[in-house]
Amino acid sequence: MSTTNAASRASVLVPLPLQGPYDYLLAEGGEGQRGLVVRAPLGKREILGVVWGKAEGDIAPEKLRSATALLPEQRLPPSLCDFVDWVARYTLAPRGAVLAQVLRAPDAFDPEKPRPAFVLGTRPEGRLTPAREKILTLMADGLARSMPDIAEQAGVSPGVVKGLAETGALRSASLPEFMPFAIPDQNYVEVTLSPDQAEAALHLREAVVKNEYSAHLLDGVTGSGKTESYFEAVAEALAQGRQALILLPEIALTVQFLDRFAARFGCRPAEWHSEMTERERRRTYRAVMGGHARVVAGARSALFLPFPELGLIIADEEHDQAYKQDEGVVYNARDMAVVRARIENCPVVLSSATPSLETWLNAKNGRYAWLKLPSRHGVAEMPEILLVDLRAESEPGKYLSTPLLEGLKGVLASGEQALLFLNRRGYAPLTLCSACGHKETCRNCSAWMVEHRYRGRLVCHHCGFETKRPQKCSSCEAVESFIPCGPGVERVEEELRASLPDARIAIASSDTLASPKDMRRLLESFGRGEIDILIGTQIVAKGHHFPQLTLAGVIDADLGGVGGDPRSSERSFQVLYQVAGRAGRAEKPGRVLIQTRNPDDPVMQALKSGARDAFLAREAETRERAGAPPFGRLAALLLAGPDGDKVRDAARALAASAPKGRGVRVWGPAPAFYQVLRGKTRERLLVQAERNIDIQDYLRVWLGAQKIPSSVRLTVDIDPMSFF
Ligand code: ADP
Ligand code: ZN
Repeated sequence: MSTTNAASRASVLVPLPLQGPYDYLLAEGGEGQRGLVVRAPLGKREILGVVWGKAEGDIAPEKLRSATALLPEQRLPPSLCDFVDWVARYTLAPRGAVLAQVLRAPDAFDPEKPRPAFVLGTRPEGRLTPAREKILTLMADGLARSMPDIAEQAGVSPGVVKGLAETGALRSASLPEFMPFAIPDQNYVEVTLSPDQAEAALHLREAVVKNEYSAHLLDGVTGSGKTESYFEAVAEALAQGRQALILLPEIALTVQFLDRFAARFGCRPAEWHSEMTERERRRTYRAVMGGHARVVAGARSALFLPFPELGLIIADEEHDQAYKQDEGVVYNARDMAVVRARIENCPVVLSSATPSLETWLNAKNGRYAWLKLPSRHGVAEMPEILLVDLRAESEPGKYLSTPLLEGLKGVLASGEQALLFLNRRGYAPLTLCSACGHKETCRNCSAWMVEHRYRGRLVCHHCGFETKRPQKCSSCEAVESFIPCGPGVERVEEELRASLPDARIAIASSDTLASPKDMRRLLESFGRGEIDILIGTQIVAKGHHFPQLTLAGVIDADLGGVGGDPRSSERSFQVLYQVAGRAGRAEKPGRVLIQTRNPDDPVMQALKSGARDAFLAREAETRERAGAPPFGRLAALLLAGPDGDKVRDAARALAASAPKGRGVRVWGPAPAFYQVLRGKTRERLLVQAERNIDIQDYLRVWLGAQKIPSSVRLTVDIDPMSFF
């Protein structure tokens, strides 16, 4: 044996979609330290890696390359490494790809870069210019400030600051790279809870104090104080000296949420989501890793942050589909939140007014504690829900029924507000040539082009391709022959303006709101009563609280899911219930009008009667009979590539090679709902297995033996939510 002995080897995982980990040489002491972050050479590059454990191979030491450990405090908690292993096993993603979710701010591991600054130096002699006087007055407090800050705060140009510094009147100093995060104060306000809330809060506090794994469904109608109640659990985590993670399905939702948190705890939580700059990421990541950020509110990716002292996870709106990540590592953050809590040995709280069937069943059979908040807080009552039968109440070419228009007039007359919900961007979902019946489709996707009339364009909602609205039909060349079919938010607005010319109307959709800031501005304006009627897509369906909003209208409740989606009823119910939940959240009672052509549908009936649990029980029965999740297991395989024939061949070959097994069926291949997206042809296979079957094992054996052409990409989706 050589002198570079086995003790100085370690297996290191790198954040790339490779199998791994790989063995490296490591300076003494690093070998057993799972989670230690290192710089490792890979090919010609050097990248970050993480010590995963003892070296596994028996390559001669002289053939191994050396990795360099970073500072001991720059490390991932070993529990996070366990989580990465677990997620990789479950999703079938390469471990390195899952690690990449963790190392999302690689420069967080670089040494701190102090910022150059100045403090007051020696008092200069003689007369000073007024600009220089201003600087000295500002700096008299002795605080260090950066040059741009001095210039801004003193109201002078940076050149003046520089000139003064050269005289010795300002001395160089340095500031920490980042402002520290404020510590939320669990006693910032005194909270008076209703008896139901108090019971739920006490239960959650006790779970946090116990400091072991437990799962809880916080199930309360919209406006019942679920947020208020789980804040008590966060307060307890703070009191116990542990960190807390609050997952939110969308950043748009955090706009009001952050202020709400600040009102309870005296400062905002740290944030984590895709709209952050690199620098903000680096700041938050370091603060989480160092234990300085005590509470993080974030989107699903926050689940992979390196909390050293995690004591509580909350998944708000747990049923929300935005928790599912569909690309790269395909996972559901709600489910993985439960897994992380189990690994960290801490409580997890799933909160919703419309729990997913999976979670509801887990609560029903006692696997999760079930905390119920059956009524709205304070004087607010649940809104009255009415169905409007469009078969009887609508005129051709109109999308607002008489009862809905009457309702809106009433709202305007009393100075209240209304929300109209339609999950269709643009003017009309389909544009048809009246001469030949041709439908304009995207050149990259097998999807219709959607007219956006304000901008005079046709847009593909899948790849973003757009063109000017053509004058002539591209098929028969008829001039101005296009007719819009069906409603979009713009068309509803047009109709509304014609019927209610004095109303102040705004549209909230991802077209009109480019950034969370725009969203915030619009919501604030609505909150101030500057808008009477807000027409919105799903981005306004949830979370928001507007005391003057007394009428919610659903333009078309029948826009359900596509064929083959076992969750389409459940989802319709959830989104319509959430929309309904916006109405009547304060003193004034609310009303909800749901326009539908299927008033007898179980979803509509459940909404009308408020019989949510009966609806879920029925859903459960239907799915049990079909062996659908959660009674059976599903995995979707999607093959996609630029060459349609190659994709179809690969899909056929894959299906033909599926091992025969008891309790497993493989369906397909079949063209995906959108057969071509972004120029890629797509074929799908669906694997259905009985509940007791290890579907991952089955897939590993099957897919491991397959050779798929490099131009075809295979995505495995365990527990698929999307059937497009
Ligand atoms: P949910 O999360 O269930 O929709 P929220 O926690 O948002 O409900 O509560 C709805 C509204 O009622 C909010 O404006 C909230 O501030 C208020 N509220 C709820 N519980 C209380 C309480 N105990 N004291 C004061 N206000 C409360
Ligand atoms: Zn397209």
